[in-house]
Amino acid sequence: MKKAKNTPTQPKTPRERLAAKSEKQSNGCVLWTGATATNGYGIISVHGKDRLVHRYAWELANNKPVPADMVVMHTCDTRNCVAPNHLVSGTQADNMKDKINKGRQGCSTGKHGKKLSLDELKHIYSLVDNGKTGYEVAKLTGRSEQHIYQLIRTREARMRRESIRAQQTALGTLKDIQRAVSTAMNQLLMNPILAK
Ligand SMILES: [Zn+2]
Repeated sequence: MKKAKNTPTQPKTPRERLAAKSEKQSNGCVLWTGATATNGYGIISVHGKDRLVHRYAWELANNKPVPADMVVMHTCDTRNCVAPNHLVSGTQADNMKDKINKGRQGCSTGKHGKKLSLDELKHIYSLVDNGKTGYEVAKLTGRSEQHIYQLIRTREARMRRESIRAQQTALGTLKDIQRAVSTAMNQLLMNPILAK
């Protein structure tokens, strides 16, 4: 039996979901709080198809599809921002030029967007250490939740590696002591005076 239309359980339209999952920030960005891809761009399901949410937001604001040869760029450089006034369309060439100007091309291009400064990184870790969740840290720093979780995992892996290394060093020292003791014992046992 088909479900009746317009029941309270009727799923929201993509436009409604976009509005429901967007949070305005004091800096003017409107951050998408829904799903994001590992590269930090927001993803929204539109009529069964996963779309980049900033492109979808641009289309809603401009009431037309993004032209085939155009890309939608962020003037704020924040990948999960959907503020219509932060989205501009341009050619791929414009996009590359823009990335180079913003210094996130080549080595400095992280898959999560603008490279983190050391201060930013310290700030993120201090928020994490103060008990903030990945979601909260992402909201506070304008980074994607995935990015925050990746940073947490990276730090955990580094701490694990360091503790394994410390353990190995301690074990190595113990083995050295063991070897020295057994050498000394052998020398004592082989001493002809003691052996008599
Ligand atoms: Zn923005």
